[in-house]
Amino acid sequence: MTPCIICVAITGSLPQKSDNPAVPISISEQVESTHEAFEAGASIVHAHVRNDDGSPSSDPEKFARLKEGVEAHCPGMIVQLSTGGRSGAGKTRGGMLPLRPDMASLSVGSNNFPTRVYENPPDLVDWLAAEMLAHDIKPEIEAFDLSHIFQAAKMQADGRLAGTPYVQFVMGVRNAMPVDREVFDFYIATVKRLFGANAPWCAAGIGAHQLTLNEWAVTSGGHARTGMEDNVRLDRTTLAPSNAALVRRVVDLCARHDRPVATPAQARRLLGLRAAP
Ligand SMILES: [Zn+2]
Repeated sequence: MTPCIICVAITGSLPQKSDNPAVPISISEQVESTHEAFEAGASIVHAHVRNDDGSPSSDPEKFARLKEGVEAHCPGMIVQLSTGGRSGAGKTRGGMLPLRPDMASLSVGSNNFPTRVYENPPDLVDWLAAEMLAHDIKPEIEAFDLSHIFQAAKMQADGRLAGTPYVQFVMGVRNAMPVDREVFDFYIATVKRLFGANAPWCAAGIGAHQLTLNEWAVTSGGHARTGMEDNVRLDRTTLAPSNAALVRRVVDLCARHDRPVATPAQARRLLGLRAAP
């Protein structure tokens, strides 16, 4: 069985301490939370940065300190920085890419979010992809919609993306794609058709759907994302005590379904990444 890569999305741009006091906001909290999640079994950290008041930031200096801290405390862990549109506008979204993280998230199309349009205009998508190519950064394609998978295939075909795209299916964002098993299976079939039977993919579910998508991914040969960016609870009445606690839920699922958990070195090989710095 292919080992399962667990990605922990530690902070995001929305959850606040008022939602769950364990949401890491400062860089030192983020490094500590990532370290616990790493020890629990996560091999990728997906990160946003925040200002001291909790508002989203895209400050490259903050990203640099976070990357440095994770690399120092979590040897080999894959650092994935967010270029998502909630943390900045236009090219500020990619201002941290010269730091050459292992990976960065890349949205290749637009859709609705709970209270706004998630804008990813073609010229900005192309600029972000070109920056990732220039700095040898593997994009993770955020598929909020089926068309985003086809857009990734087009970008691979004309050289805007290098290598096999690593697609993440995002389900359960209000006003975007809901959690739907038939669509999920069609997403998998589409990735295999466009990128080959062995193309890796991962999945993320929002809120209470996090565990559903974790289970679907673990049992379908995919990789799994968890963490407080997407969900701050263990169940309806219990707040997650840490990102590590959410990672442990996925580790338990893997054990139950005979999937080994990928080490950082295995995850790097599966995704075609360079060796750890
Ligand atoms: Zn994110």
